[in-house]
Amino acid sequence: MSFKAEYIWIDGTEPTAQLRSKTRVLADGAELPIWGFDGSSTNQAEGSSSDCQLKPVFSCPDPLRGGDSVLVLCEVLNVDGTPHSSNHRALLTPIAEQFADQESWFGIEQEYTLMKDGRPLGFPEGGYPAPQGPYYCAAGGNYVFGRDIVEEHLDACIAAGLKISGINAEVMPGQWEFQIGPAGPEEVSDHIWVARYLALRIAEKQGVQFSLEAKPVKGDWNGTGAHTNFSTKAMREGYDPIITACEALGEKFLEHVKAYGTGTEERLTGAHETAKWSEFSYGVSNRGASVRLPWQVEIERKGYLEDRRPNADMDPYIVTRMITNTCCTALEK
Ligand code: ADP
Ligand code: MN
Ligand code: MN
Ligand code: MN
Ligand code: MN
Repeated sequence: MSFKAEYIWIDGTEPTAQLRSKTRVLADGAELPIWGFDGSSTNQAEGSSSDCQLKPVFSCPDPLRGGDSVLVLCEVLNVDGTPHSSNHRALLTPIAEQFADQESWFGIEQEYTLMKDGRPLGFPEGGYPAPQGPYYCAAGGNYVFGRDIVEEHLDACIAAGLKISGINAEVMPGQWEFQIGPAGPEEVSDHIWVARYLALRIAEKQGVQFSLEAKPVKGDWNGTGAHTNFSTKAMREGYDPIITACEALGEKFLEHVKAYGTGTEERLTGAHETAKWSEFSYGVSNRGASVRLPWQVEIERKGYLEDRRPNADMDPYIVTRMITNTCCTALEK
């Protein structure tokens, strides 16, 4: 007998990379082989030398197909075996290894918007629903749109064995969130990408778009982000290391915010529970700060920080690499 392996990779589309996948049928018991694809069709190569390699790095049961089927997340390599320029996972691995003894954990809150016909679910054609207020964590058909997709996605993530830790309805109609973590930098990132893939596929069945646009509706509507919660062993045991990490993020704040995905200036305005992108601040319980320390963290004098700046379409391989590098370098001193 045979089984189906869905090979998934991150393409070279700018500014927001797109997920691509194709199916390989393998004999029972077969190893997951290196495979290839046409990089000229994914913004990853010129037509004249178009071959790229797919190197499996993470696999899990495929809850969409069931049975023995698997999802196979891959890194993209050039034909000579070097990492492709779009392959940011290859840059994370050495940083994760360098600081492994500090035991970095990440919890990523992936916000997204379910859209159809170019507008969020719950938005009437050519108009707007009632203003923000009642939708966050709501119940009821006048406030909640797309829950069947969201529930199916949660079940799929659990069945795939991803470290999903929760879901909630967000502030704008049609806007939702799932959380992955806590987990190490590579694991949380691999799981975010596979969870995004599952969301794309489940929404697709209803002709719905899984959108990671930072500001899908202009005006007085919340943007869509990917708050990134972070701790090291020292931060989980004491308060001073948390402050050291916040100060380190402050020193490199522009470098970070520029690498945190698309739509920064539109989303990080200083309104709608954000801090202005061009200024850095941190504070306890402050949802208008760049970095928030949850209230329990101040009371218990230990825990983690929340970097609120990453946009929804951020690449977790980049964000976790930068936070690990910046904070762990400062904490090492
Ligand atoms: P918010 O109150 O900002 O909406 P959420 O509950 O949505 O917070 O998300 C918090 C995230 O922080 C979760 O993914 C959780 O796993 C993660 N988290 C909890 N403790 C830690 C920790 N010590 N280090 C890193 N992440 C953590
Ligand atoms: Mn072909
Ligand atoms: Mn949250
Ligand atoms: Mn949220
Ligand atoms: Mn948050």
